[in-house]
Amino acid sequence: MRTSVPRASATTLAVGVLMMAAACGSSPPTPHVGPTTIATATSATPTSSASGTPTATYPTATGTTSTTTTATATTSPPPTTQTSTLAPTAPIPAAFVGHVVSRIPTSRKVVALTFDAGANGDGVDSILATLAKEKVAASFYLTGNFVNAFPTLAVRMSAAGRLGNHSTSHPHLPTLTAAQVTTQVTSAQATILRVTGEDPRPLFRFPFGDSGPRDLRLVNDLGYIAVGWTVDTLGWQGTSGGRSVNSVVQRVLAAATPGEIVLMHVGSNPTDHSTLDADAVPRVIAGLRAAGYGFVSLDALGSG
Ligand SMILES: [Zn+2]
Repeated sequence: MRTSVPRASATTLAVGVLMMAAACGSSPPTPHVGPTTIATATSATPTSSASGTPTATYPTATGTTSTTTTATATTSPPPTTQTSTLAPTAPIPAAFVGHVVSRIPTSRKVVALTFDAGANGDGVDSILATLAKEKVAASFYLTGNFVNAFPTLAVRMSAAGRLGNHSTSHPHLPTLTAAQVTTQVTSAQATILRVTGEDPRPLFRFPFGDSGPRDLRLVNDLGYIAVGWTVDTLGWQGTSGGRSVNSVVQRVLAAATPGEIVLMHVGSNPTDHSTLDADAVPRVIAGLRAAGYGFVSLDALGSG
């Protein structure tokens, strides 16, 4: 169940499956020239929260590094009422307008691990445990439907990393009207904010990696950077698709480059129920570290 989506732009080759798998595609690396505002987050400071959840260190909007406090963000049930005050939409840096960002513009040996969530959260426990154990920053791209279906997981992912917006119901946005695209983005944003208390801006990932110039303009105007990827692990294809933990690891390491953005998924494959990405994360982290790479979240992309 894999379909190829022709792209108007050469920057992203979208390879999608139906929203059941909530998977995306692969994209060739596209170098970007722009201000380097990424701060490494490789040396997060552990906290002493009762659950042992470590904090992760994320770059702030000013490009400096701050340690977030997540001592209370453990496994409590999702709050039913969050402060849903939405900040005004801030313009995104000009360097990120009008295209999908498939690599962090940096010469430093840093990698961003990113995880999409749409169909299910079968790999979340494992992924969050690994990230906490290794003190690695990551970002998670959630659909509004996922957040409604798995609110507790969404809250935990917010505590463990940085949330991004992955639309409400994972449609092919170029097939929708402009008003529908806007609703897909703003409704998911409202759901993520209401359930987790986190504003997903400025991080947006197109469902199936499928976008056109109009869609890019719309999400940019809504305060979002379109976050693509340097490499798709293809772990979402599962063992039934001929993939393995080893193939996932090898794809990430083969594509290692300063600013690499790695696309993984939190869910299991709907056919064979494998969670190859989740299973591969420990080896992905170890392999990248052995090659001299550290890890960053994508927070600083919005700081220009
Ligand atoms: Zn997706």
